[in-house]
Amino acid sequence: MNASTSGVTSGKLFLETVLQNVKRATELANIPSDIYEFLKIPKRVVIVSIPIRDQNGKVTNYIGYRVQHNNALGPYKGGIRYYPTVDLDEVTALAMLMTYKCAAVSLPFGGAKGGVACDPKKLSLEEIEKITRRYTYMISEVIGPYVDIPAPDVYTDARVMAWIMDTYSQLKGRQVPEVVTGKPVYLGGCEGREEATGFGVCVTTREACRVLGIPVKGARIAIQGFGNVGTYAALHLANLGAKIVAVSDSKGAIYNKDGFNVEKLIAHKKNTGTVLGFPSATQIGEKELLQLDVDVLIPAAIEGVLTKEVAEKVQARIVAEGANGPTTTEGSQVLQEKGIFVVPDILANAGGVTASYFEWIQNLQREHWPREKVLNMLEEKMVKAFNDVVETANKMEIGMRDAVMVLSVSRVALAVQTLGIWP
Ligand code: NAD
Repeated sequence: MNASTSGVTSGKLFLETVLQNVKRATELANIPSDIYEFLKIPKRVVIVSIPIRDQNGKVTNYIGYRVQHNNALGPYKGGIRYYPTVDLDEVTALAMLMTYKCAAVSLPFGGAKGGVACDPKKLSLEEIEKITRRYTYMISEVIGPYVDIPAPDVYTDARVMAWIMDTYSQLKGRQVPEVVTGKPVYLGGCEGREEATGFGVCVTTREACRVLGIPVKGARIAIQGFGNVGTYAALHLANLGAKIVAVSDSKGAIYNKDGFNVEKLIAHKKNTGTVLGFPSATQIGEKELLQLDVDVLIPAAIEGVLTKEVAEKVQARIVAEGANGPTTTEGSQVLQEKGIFVVPDILANAGGVTASYFEWIQNLQREHWPREKVLNMLEEKMVKAFNDVVETANKMEIGMRDAVMVLSVSRVALAVQTLGIWP
């Protein structure tokens, strides 16, 4: 499951930041302001009540959301998160980011996001299943394989996706695996999906090194967050010969100038629940990790960690954003002023949704592809998307973050303009 402290940034602030970035992109790309006005408001917002009766007969009514931002480029696509602070602004901001993330890697999808305000850590598995099935039932009229395809996000996983598939399928009277992605592999999930986001971070980091003339072999890398994204990014980068010199989790950070044996580190984390205490590692401060003298910094934990103050001390030459929104607006400005090469989140972590797209295709065609095929196709898509963004950045003499937004907002805007308004 993903862990993110989405409550760190309030939903309202998050939405304002996303809208500011979209507005800036429309201005840079000379997109008419009425298109911005159109994209500012999601196409459809569904708010549902989810009453659940616990073992003692007490009923708790949870609130669930599904925000469908835009579908000009294809069916809506986006995860579902279970987190106490989920609110409409946060889900809306995330739905908008999905529209632009899918456009950034040229997937034939629009953007959506869903969420239920609940604390899964305090719920039994049975209660999580009840919430999932009731939520799916309540949104079943607005989702579907050609309409809106949910996926996992913070604190939802393959099992939750299987419950969504089963509930929807029972309502339709037939198996519909293509209604949701991120399912267990034995229930139509995609080989390689688990490692896809970290692999995509590795591919875009490798490409960024190429652009800057930094050999990947021997490149020193610090990774904040050693969960799904951080672990697989570390594994794949280590396979290319990079040195993972620092990693952290919610309990603390460790450093070894010669680099860690990543496989042993993963085993240590699995056994002890933390990276701390790994042999031959020195414990360092959480902020120190972000400011180490390394070639690449990969924030792969939570949002808002690279603030103005932290960014001012970042020494890495490349920041590859594995997490969603790890850099604040002011932090971003500082990184740009310092000439640090940023691989922005909607590009760096798009490997997950791209593998989801492959899962959807396989389900529609009742096929099952091997891992190698999935990773090869993923690599091709990520490299193409990376090169498109670099080209836009060079042509317009803007930073990578502006470039990815200009590119993706322009793609969505063109589709919106071409389709026009009907009825
Ligand atoms: P995860 O729960 O598997 O891992 C998160 C890791 O971050 C854990 O190791 C946790 O201990 C650590 N962490 C939490 N707070 C920390 C802190 N203050 N300092 C250092 N480490 C801390 O989650 P994940 O799936 O790896 O997701 C990480 C980020 O990547 C999130 O922002 C998520 O939205 C984003 N993301 C994930 C995917 C995906 O496919 N998993 C796709 C796109 C974006």
